[in-house]
Amino acid sequence: MRTLPPRMQEKLYQDLILPKETLNIRKKIRKFAEKKVFPIAYDLGQKEEKTENFPFETFKKMAEEGFFKAPFSKEDGGLGLKYPACASAVISEELAYISNSMTGLINAHFLLTGKTLSQGSDYIKQKYLVPLMEGKMIGSFAMTEPQSGSDVRNESLITKGKKKDGRYIINGQKRYISNVCVADFVATLVNVDGKSCMLVVDLPTDGCKVSEPDKKLGNRGELTSDIYFEDVEVPEENLVGDEGNGLKIALGALMYGRTGIGASGVGMAQSAFDECVEFMKEREAFGKKLNQFQHWQFLLAERAIEIENARNLYSKSALRIDQGIEFPDFESSGAKYYGSKIAVDMARDAVQIFGGFGLMVELAHDKSTYKVEEIYRDSKVGEIYEGTNEIHRMIIARKIFGKD
Ligand SMILES: Cc1cc2nc3c(=O)[nH]c(=O)nc-3n(C[C@H](O)[C@H](O)[C@H](O)COP(=O)(O)OP(=O)(O)OC[C@H]3O[C@@H](n4cnc5c(N)ncnc54)[C@H](O)[C@@H]3O)c2cc1C
Repeated sequence: MRTLPPRMQEKLYQDLILPKETLNIRKKIRKFAEKKVFPIAYDLGQKEEKTENFPFETFKKMAEEGFFKAPFSKEDGGLGLKYPACASAVISEELAYISNSMTGLINAHFLLTGKTLSQGSDYIKQKYLVPLMEGKMIGSFAMTEPQSGSDVRNESLITKGKKKDGRYIINGQKRYISNVCVADFVATLVNVDGKSCMLVVDLPTDGCKVSEPDKKLGNRGELTSDIYFEDVEVPEENLVGDEGNGLKIALGALMYGRTGIGASGVGMAQSAFDECVEFMKEREAFGKKLNQFQHWQFLLAERAIEIENARNLYSKSALRIDQGIEFPDFESSGAKYYGSKIAVDMARDAVQIFGGFGLMVELAHDKSTYKVEEIYRDSKVGEIYEGTNEIHRMIIARKIFGKD
């Protein structure tokens, strides 16, 4: 059985940025993650991707604690927090400290799907958002297609719709869709007669097929699948917002999502960092503890500064969203890019510091397990999903140099 190392965040990080309301949520989600997610974290990170391995029970407990309501207003049935984006971000960080698989599947549900639905009609909110917040329905969100995830311009989409007798008829395919194999519905981006539309499709529905979960390098507990649409009929009232606004709605939800990915990167980096600090106190080479070698002292000092910066950056991105800035591109792309990058950098260093143990899923000699290999595998996805890190640098470069 793994144990959690002492948290270096408590020793190094002075939180002068996030409001008290958010710090209270941090306390609550940390307690939940340690008590309810930690016992299943090893299985989530290691077990093969199968629908029966989705953590249904923990998911329900998260809903009962009200965490899925954090990003939403009172009118929509949410917690009505003053700083909903900050709350969502610390939920991501604290879950990722324990299991990034858990963060991935939860964020796809309450942030990407939930923040898409919250831009819809009262009908959409009552039928899908309220049960999503209560954990009675599992949501999924589909933009990516087999031929592209970065280029989701309307003209590039292969998922197409036609309007007929008050219904949309859709054909096409989406790829790597988190949770869709266990979901009750999918909010999907469709090119309807040349207009970008976000449609909610009930699952199962005639003409809809979902593949088995993909087998992945990391984030194994976050199940992804293809979904195929063949003449699928969607009622008119399942359009989120207006025709032509589908991509804008998706990008609005992604602002929350990207800040969350930055925060989950911080969670993983902090976890790998804390594992290293403990390991270096004990492991010896050439008659000295590893923590007495200046090489490693300097490296951890640098990583500590980077984690500090990344936490400040995602906090700023969340605060800007909570100030009502619709698209705080610089901060949210920066938080996503930087948080995910330092998670990968710190995970690589952690495997190196652990030496041979760094590669061990389980040591045959005594059945001991080592979390750093899991973080090494899980961290990579942060640089890829919700806009690759190249796309985020492009967004920032546009702010500097303009679109052309
Ligand atoms: C575990 C996991 C879960 C996911 N969950 C979801 C989900 O729930 N819903 C969903 O819709 N999608 C989901 N995705 C998809 C994810 O968002 C895409 O993989 C991502 O957007 C990248 O798209 P792509 O894989 O098609 O890569 P591509 O777009 O094909 O990119 C390939 C490479 O080309 C680079 N590139 C592309 N354009 C440019 C450019 N202009 N300049 C420089 N470089 C460029 C990219 O940065 C990348 O390195 C998930 C993916 C994973 C791995």
